[in-house]
Amino acid sequence: MTGTGTSAGTLIIGNCQAGVQLACSLRELGDTDPIVLVGEEPHAPYQRPPLSKAFLKGEVTADSLTFRTHEFYRERNIELVTRERIVSVTRDGDGSGGTAVAESGRRFEFARLALTTGAVPRQIPFDGSELEGVSYLRTATDAAQLQQGLAAARNVVVVGGGFIGLEVAAGARAAGLTVTVLEAAPRLVGRAVSEQTSEFYLQAHRRRGIRVVLNAQVARFLGEHDRVTGVELGDGTVVPADVVLIGVGVIPRTELAEQLGLALDNGIVVDGTALCSDGLTVAAGDCANLPNPSITPGGVARLRLESVQNAVEQAKIAAATLLSLPAAYSTVPWFWSDQADLKLQIAGLSGGHDQIVLRGEPDSETFSVLYYRAGQLIAADCINKPLDFIAARGALHHGQNVPADLAGDVTIPLKKLVSAVPALAGK
Ligand SMILES: Cc1cc2nc3c(=O)[nH]c(=O)nc-3n(C[C@H](O)[C@H](O)[C@H](O)COP(=O)(O)OP(=O)(O)OC[C@H]3O[C@@H](n4cnc5c(N)ncnc54)[C@H](O)[C@@H]3O)c2cc1C
Repeated sequence: MTGTGTSAGTLIIGNCQAGVQLACSLRELGDTDPIVLVGEEPHAPYQRPPLSKAFLKGEVTADSLTFRTHEFYRERNIELVTRERIVSVTRDGDGSGGTAVAESGRRFEFARLALTTGAVPRQIPFDGSELEGVSYLRTATDAAQLQQGLAAARNVVVVGGGFIGLEVAAGARAAGLTVTVLEAAPRLVGRAVSEQTSEFYLQAHRRRGIRVVLNAQVARFLGEHDRVTGVELGDGTVVPADVVLIGVGVIPRTELAEQLGLALDNGIVVDGTALCSDGLTVAAGDCANLPNPSITPGGVARLRLESVQNAVEQAKIAAATLLSLPAAYSTVPWFWSDQADLKLQIAGLSGGHDQIVLRGEPDSETFSVLYYRAGQLIAADCINKPLDFIAARGALHHGQNVPADLAGDVTIPLKKLVSAVPALAGK
């Protein structure tokens, strides 16, 4: 296998959401040097969110999820490389460039390097994890296998009541399957939303016929003829299963960053310009641990975000940084999740809130949860409330507030409650 002519150009390792955006942004910013966008998956870069939603339900095909045609990359002189897993990367002594080597032996020389390596599902090492029918969901290949499994299944068990698990559970239930969600924590989606939103999801999924077990301890997976037949819990109960999906979070892919000696802390540590600790490499997307981008003061100092919006925004910043253009990541994070007919949109980061205001009645399945810190709106979970989401996101973006004592009044559109008072400084 021959090498590629990237000695004067940029090598982007990881060719999905963040990687594609980074390559496109480099071109939009006027970069004319070679760009190689390399990834290990067999597919052209594609969107992951529909994998647990429309794709599983058969509403869209895998082909329709690809971001861009091959012509698109060709026209922009972006060399798209698939099926090449980079296993080693080194920088030249003076830091001016370096070489990455794929498992196949193919070499990629670079002047500039970007890591957009994403994340992999956290594995749980229970007995029986290797049985056919037990799966994780990250890639299009995983999704195609899961879709096939669901088509022949009657009983589905989802281990983990996070967003992806609940999306799959909702889709399987809508298809008429018997679905059980096993969540180890006392509430659903506990890492991302308030108790109110968790409780809402618990009731909403139960109303739709999903069995949800909280504080569930999985002991092992049971099988016959190498195929899963059930999940045994710590108390000896067995939940029948033809398909088990494990969705218990992801682990950032940092193996190449480690080889480069970059600082790591739950991901690749980057600054607000997406620059790594060596002052040369950039990293973006699910693999990167960044300074809290929320413009609202307070909250945690650093975090790792797993969302399309973060991958896109951070990649734009990384591209500018590679070209030595001024850039700083300061935006309102947002996220969405579709579960059955429930559309959740989250604006901002709710960590560190000290007050919650409910806007609407959760049982109506159309309501919002507004989060405050020291009287300042910092985030909102909006369920089937797109106008609340737009208003909250806009308020956060412009450093405006929604007075907490008025926010619960659903007779007044949220956008009318957004005051022009700037965010409280220094709180
Ligand atoms: C099923 C599912 C549903 C989701 N739903 C939503 C949603 O509703 N809303 C939302 O905002 N986000 C959602 N997400 C999250 C979102 O898809 C991710 O945040 C986003 O894809 C992150 O982009 P990324 O480029 O950082 O990482 P990835 O998309 O993981 O891409 C990284 C790529 O790098 C490749 N790679 C890694 N290491 C190497 C190597 N050494 N050599 C070669 N290639 C390598 C990987 O194979 C992968 O293709 C969902 C994710 C999944 C899996």
